[in-house]
Amino acid sequence: MSQIVIAKFGGTSVANSDAMNNSANVVLSNPDVRVVVLSASAGVTNLLVDLANGCNPDLRTDKIAQIRAIQYQILDTLPGSDVVREEIDRMLENITTLSEAASLATSEALTDELVSHGELMSTLLFVELLRSRSVNAEWFDVRRVMKTDDRFGKAEPEVEALSSLSEQHLAPRISSGALVITQGFIGSEGKGRTTTLGRGGSDYTAALLGEALNAKRVDIWTDVPGIYTTDPRIVPNAQRIDEIGFEEAAEMATFGAKILHPATLIPAVRRGIPVFVGSSKDVAAGGTLVCDKTTNPPLFRALALRRKQTLLTLHSLNMLHARGFLAKIFSILANHHISVDLITTSEVSIALTLDTAGSSTCGASLLTSALLTELSSLCRVEVEEDLALVALIGNQLAQARGVGKEVFGVLEPFNIRMISYGASSHNLCLLVPGSDAEHVVKTLHRNLFE
Ligand code: ASP
Ligand code: MG
Repeated sequence: MSQIVIAKFGGTSVANSDAMNNSANVVLSNPDVRVVVLSASAGVTNLLVDLANGCNPDLRTDKIAQIRAIQYQILDTLPGSDVVREEIDRMLENITTLSEAASLATSEALTDELVSHGELMSTLLFVELLRSRSVNAEWFDVRRVMKTDDRFGKAEPEVEALSSLSEQHLAPRISSGALVITQGFIGSEGKGRTTTLGRGGSDYTAALLGEALNAKRVDIWTDVPGIYTTDPRIVPNAQRIDEIGFEEAAEMATFGAKILHPATLIPAVRRGIPVFVGSSKDVAAGGTLVCDKTTNPPLFRALALRRKQTLLTLHSLNMLHARGFLAKIFSILANHHISVDLITTSEVSIALTLDTAGSSTCGASLLTSALLTELSSLCRVEVEEDLALVALIGNQLAQARGVGKEVFGVLEPFNIRMISYGASSHNLCLLVPGSDAEHVVKTLHRNLFE
């Protein structure tokens, strides 16, 4: 394990010049930070996604003006910024050209090319800010090392290529003493076209680079000081968790806690690299360390909430005493690139929810008519929308006594549409009507955590 730390700053941490200066302070306070991964300035990716979906000329001009205003606010505070100004202006010109193309015909490849400009601009500005503080900062185009497949909008990185290319291109820069500033979220496929890793993918980039460079820690700086027992916007009494195990944190991220991109912990777990989550605005507040082993893991750790869940119920009498029915269903789902989240089965039906984790930049709905038609040829398909998934995360849940009574005893007033329990000792998942979701979270939090 090397001594380097990878620091990632999210959109709010590079939103404006104050935020960027705070983030620069965080970087400079730890000499072990040698690679910095940035998101786009807050709001910019959403605007770029809108442009990529095609806008009329007025709306287009307005959205580009909003992007320009966000980036110029930062640019205008930098001394001697003529060279970066030219580069940012060139990026804005690219954005204009690509948005015009998108208003004629959208495409996933075009979307990713357009959207990548957010991270390209934020990193250019941050390098300039660091240089104005006499730091030897070097801008690095992450697409040179982050090779991916060509599933635009939600590309998968090629870990081996990343590792050898990082050794070749990044390691020498780090050893020469430069502070490397690079983009999260973006990559490039075999033909050199830009790809993205899915919304919120910068965390994943940071962890992947941590793995490739064998870092001793990955720091994820955001606008909340760590991971909480549940979303503090729903439950103001939620408590910060100081230390949490990889599996528990992975379950939280997967089941909707917005704090980390769901794939982030995969590379961290592969190499056992601890991940720290803290607020770049309030470093003194501390944060959460996600690591391999924690002391006294509690039975109940946290509650995560994922909204907008779709439940598919598939009925077929052919399932009765039949073999291979589930295999057929799952191969259809796999062919449509759908990963299943929760599942329960009975003799003649299957109920399942679709995994929407780390949704793509194109925001395409998972439930296409092609998929429904294909499933309908095998069975009767029922679709229920607007459900919410509440996940209770913990340890040894499947082995402990009394979990059912403690959880369901307090949920008497609610309709629980589906329960998934027993496969993982780290979670118990409930599907409830979307309109009850917050109430269920509050009730469970009060009874299990307060
Ligand atoms: N800028 C991208 C997004 O908003 C990636 C990220 O922030 O991690 O989804
Ligand atoms: Mg983000």
